[in-house]
Amino acid sequence: MVLGIESSCDETGAGIVQDGRLLAHVVASSMDEHARFGGVVPEIAARAHLQAFNPVVREALDRAGLRLGQIDAVAVTTGPGLSGALQVGLAGAKTLAYAAGVPLYGVHHLAGHVAADTLDHGPLPRPSVVLIVSGGHTSLLLVRDLVREPILHLGDTLDDAAGECFDKVARILGLPYPGGPAIDRAARDGDPRAVAFPRPLTRPGDDPYAFSFSGLKTAAARWVEDHRARGAQVPVADGAAALQEAVADVLTRKALAACAAHGVRTLIVVGGVAANSRVRALAERRCASAGVELRVPPMTLCTDNGAMIAAVGDLLVRSGAEPAPLDVSIDPSAPLEYAALTPLARTA
Ligand code: ATP
Ligand code: MG
Ligand code: FE
Repeated sequence: MVLGIESSCDETGAGIVQDGRLLAHVVASSMDEHARFGGVVPEIAARAHLQAFNPVVREALDRAGLRLGQIDAVAVTTGPGLSGALQVGLAGAKTLAYAAGVPLYGVHHLAGHVAADTLDHGPLPRPSVVLIVSGGHTSLLLVRDLVREPILHLGDTLDDAAGECFDKVARILGLPYPGGPAIDRAARDGDPRAVAFPRPLTRPGDDPYAFSFSGLKTAAARWVEDHRARGAQVPVADGAAALQEAVADVLTRKALAACAAHGVRTLIVVGGVAANSRVRALAERRCASAGVELRVPPMTLCTDNGAMIAAVGDLLVRSGAEPAPLDVSIDPSAPLEYAALTPLARTA
């Protein structure tokens, strides 16, 4: 039974996983406290983690009907993320591991996003192409064994992440924070063909797996400006639908190109943007016509949570990985090479 702790950004999450099965998970978010600043304020996030930590862990244990003494290991996000936020989660996790006398595992946040999918759909087929699309990352990965082998990066974003693009364009359109869900909602009443937003890095000769989203933000800003200059009302729903279409188109096109090039039959889409309805729908359609199996975790496991960290911890325990020493520290900018951010597990 592994207790997983997540605190890299604005969600405090605790989840409990046993042999690949999710027993319970609880998430508290400080999102509302950041809304009026238009983005996560690190100091506020860290303080919110401090307040939420004990209640969230307690509730996860209660829901699973467990006492701390019944936990076999604690897994915690040690990076990447906001330093202060990560520190709170790690300090809490160390305390719990020490109190319970169980091993501690340091987990890479993005490996957690990948593992989230296993909780509903079972072990990852090997190899799988994984598209991680979140507030801070947009990466195409080739994953063989998540905890035993290094993760191969096929491509990343050269500038903004897809979620960041949603958040920034939402602000430009006057939609509330966080922008991703707001754009998704607004787009329901819009026409995706109303605006011809660019499809960055999709021309022949472009890096097939690299992404760029900052140009979309600029295009959206210019489109809004054009309306304002003419004294015309901005058709927000159309803008949202067209933006969402452009992002979903580029993401799914490149992900399927990666599957084809590597002969991979499974595409896994994870991270907060995997909650986007158009990304899901287009991925489904394109995977179906390419004969590729699509796996997307349920919405609640797409955004940051503790269950996904527990899922990695559970895999690490079962693979016999070496736990982290109790003086392990955070790594706010950890590159995604290995799922476990512990020195010995790296060589396992
Ligand atoms: P990272 O995981 O890269 O460190 P993060 O923790 O901020 O970043 P997540 O919590 O995984 O990222 O996802 C949050 C992002 O997902 C935000 O940018 C948010 O706007 C976006 N998002 C959430 N729901 C949707 C949706 N329905 N459509 C589009 N984007 C969405
Ligand atoms: Mg978040
Ligand atoms: Fe995340």
